[in-house]
Amino acid sequence: MEIKFLGGAREVGRSCFLIKDKRSWLLDAGVKFGEEEQYPDITRAMLKSINHVVLSHAHLDHSGYLPALYQKGYSGKVWCTKPTRDMIQLLLSDYLKIANERGNPPYGQDDLNKLLKNTELTEFDEPAKGAPELSFHHSGHILGSAMCKFDFAGGTLLYTGDFSAQESRLLEPVQTGIAAKWLITESTYGSKADKRPSQKQVTKEFIDSIKQTIDAGGKVIIPTFAVGRGQDVLFTLESHIKSGLLPKVPIYLDGMVKKALKIYRHNAIYLKREIQRQILTSDDDPFKSDNYRVPEKKDRSDVTQGEPCIILATSGMMNGGPVLAYVEALGGDAANKLLFVGYQAEGTLGRKILDGEREIELGGKTIKLELKIERAAFSAHADHNDLVSFARDTPGLEKVFIVHGDESKVDELARDIELACKKKGRKVEAFAPAAGEIVRLV
Ligand SMILES: [Zn+2]
Ligand SMILES: [Zn+2]
Repeated sequence: MEIKFLGGAREVGRSCFLIKDKRSWLLDAGVKFGEEEQYPDITRAMLKSINHVVLSHAHLDHSGYLPALYQKGYSGKVWCTKPTRDMIQLLLSDYLKIANERGNPPYGQDDLNKLLKNTELTEFDEPAKGAPELSFHHSGHILGSAMCKFDFAGGTLLYTGDFSAQESRLLEPVQTGIAAKWLITESTYGSKADKRPSQKQVTKEFIDSIKQTIDAGGKVIIPTFAVGRGQDVLFTLESHIKSGLLPKVPIYLDGMVKKALKIYRHNAIYLKREIQRQILTSDDDPFKSDNYRVPEKKDRSDVTQGEPCIILATSGMMNGGPVLAYVEALGGDAANKLLFVGYQAEGTLGRKILDGEREIELGGKTIKLELKIERAAFSAHADHNDLVSFARDTPGLEKVFIVHGDESKVDELARDIELACKKKGRKVEAFAPAAGEIVRLV
């Protein structure tokens, strides 16, 4: 048995792992965003030997490259949960549209259609149809997100995908206590410095910050992923407007946030019980607030020239999407605010702005950013302590492979996991493989 790390190794993005047991399994196939897009190192020859493809969740850094597998000759199934299938339909269509506009799509519409036709839907906590070694377990990251467990003859392998150890407004936290010999764990916030403040504190600061800008007559732009943070942030805003803690201003949804909201509503049985109850007592349905608006004018001037408002627009890392049009129109006014709520990968415009860049190129023009720039520490990922505890509390663990983390953080996490296990009298080996590395398991 072996694992080959084809992407997402000592980096965040293009997650992709090839596992060889009696059969070959490909785990996720994502895209890495940055100055230039990067893809996993998958060859045509490799695809000939792959029996199963498994998708942990819908985010593009895990799903974005899947249609290319069909272009390169794969003709089998892709196992995922139902909400994940619903969301990749949306996310991948949008991704392809943007890639086509840029003139460098990594695959065509036909390939995407093939993928969608070949998804094999699997419920949580039961063996996958036609692949009984595999089962999905809640990971608490976004709607439909799953840990993937493989019960091989030589031992159990657990891949966390992206996970959150903390309950969110919409989702239960990750399922813990699953026994595994080998663990492939994400490590987005794997450094000790990445300590997650309490959700209550983050929410308070977030609402205060928005209130300040609105009260002063400004507009707040929130770049957001279509799924995940988007819905969480939206429901947070909605509940604070309802309770009077935020002034009643319009919340504009631009990009795919609105469509994704429909998918969340259709898949409500996968959300927390409390949300399901709210939907049933329909006067409190957070999906149907009359505060939500969509821009009416094509050039969005009704929003940019209108009253104070809150704008939720994709994409979350500002590497495309309508959020750029808002920053172009509103970025020069110090009364406004750009408020980040999600992870900003190295090389993306969002990261550059967070790191202090104040002159950016948009639509062939140089824009000098005068608006206020802040970050709310919302997170749909486990933090350092959560990652260490998760590994430490996994029964039967022998080896941990650390993936989906910045180069600067992965070794620190490996050391801390080994130490925490040692304190409990257990010898666990943890390390962060490099891209292209092959590790033999048995
Ligand atoms: Zn994710
Ligand atoms: Zn991810």
